[in-house]
Amino acid sequence: MPRYAFFRGAFVPIEEARLSIMAHVVNYGTGCFEGIRAYWNADAAQLYVFRLREHYQRLLRSCRILHIALPYDADELSEITVELLRKEGYREDVYIRPLAYKGSEGIGVRLHDLVDEFAVFAVPFGKYIPKEGGIRACVSSWRRVNDTAIPARAKIIGAYVNSAFSKTEAHLNGFDEAIVLTEDGHVSEGSAENIFLVRNGQLITPPVTDNILEGITRATLMDLARQELGIPTVERRIHRTELYIADEAFFCGTGVELVPIAEVDHRPVGTGEVGPITRRLSDLYGRVVRGQVPAYLHWCTPVYEGA
Ligand code: PMP
Repeated sequence: MPRYAFFRGAFVPIEEARLSIMAHVVNYGTGCFEGIRAYWNADAAQLYVFRLREHYQRLLRSCRILHIALPYDADELSEITVELLRKEGYREDVYIRPLAYKGSEGIGVRLHDLVDEFAVFAVPFGKYIPKEGGIRACVSSWRRVNDTAIPARAKIIGAYVNSAFSKTEAHLNGFDEAIVLTEDGHVSEGSAENIFLVRNGQLITPPVTDNILEGITRATLMDLARQELGIPTVERRIHRTELYIADEAFFCGTGVELVPIAEVDHRPVGTGEVGPITRRLSDLYGRVVRGQVPAYLHWCTPVYEGA
């Protein structure tokens, strides 16, 4: 359990970081959030937060879309987060959850004339147990929220009902994860992950105009694939049936990291085994996030001084 949160401008014991049932965000989902990971590197005796600033830049973009004005910039938000982690003294992997939301109490759905609040807490994140051989995915009967209704590029709290619908449907039907299509039938993303396919040695991922969250892991993997493996990524629309004929496929995100997709709609992806490009990218990502690849240490914010 975490001991502290940053809440209403101060570090407080976690028990004191409480919202009223009348809070606007509780009633209407009017807020946005981030999911950030920090990785413990035992050799360096250091906790590294992965792409901290980029996550706060995205939070501030979500805020802009939601008419939320925070009194902090991305650097200040990063500093608050590092200070929180230092106070907690974690020596293990951690998941960090910043929230920016309409905190006013009372009835009336809108975005204007409400109090904007920021909070952040962190929880220890035990080792994520990936399905080593890959997961079984299905195409969801739900469609991704459209930019004309609830913009997917903003990480809006209320919009996660859409993710929850597709995730639970997949689970109840015996699958591990859902692949969600846009209203016009193109592959968008997983319930809370971006998706990549490999065809003919090339990476393919849906464009930012197909109602995806503009994932930080997605951007990271595109950089690593190009720079370290010499593999370009094509951002283009993907048909459902391309999922069935891809050589490899994987989901990626801060939470899942990189997880191979073994099967889509009861059809094996490629040979059904984890493919070579997926394997290489996954290994590389695992080392980069933990601060083990010097060329990418600039993506890793150290929490402890003098380590
Ligand atoms: N899509 C959705 C809907 C998500 O919730 C997430 C997780 N934040 C992602 C994609 C992956 O984004 P990131 O790599 O920035 O964590």
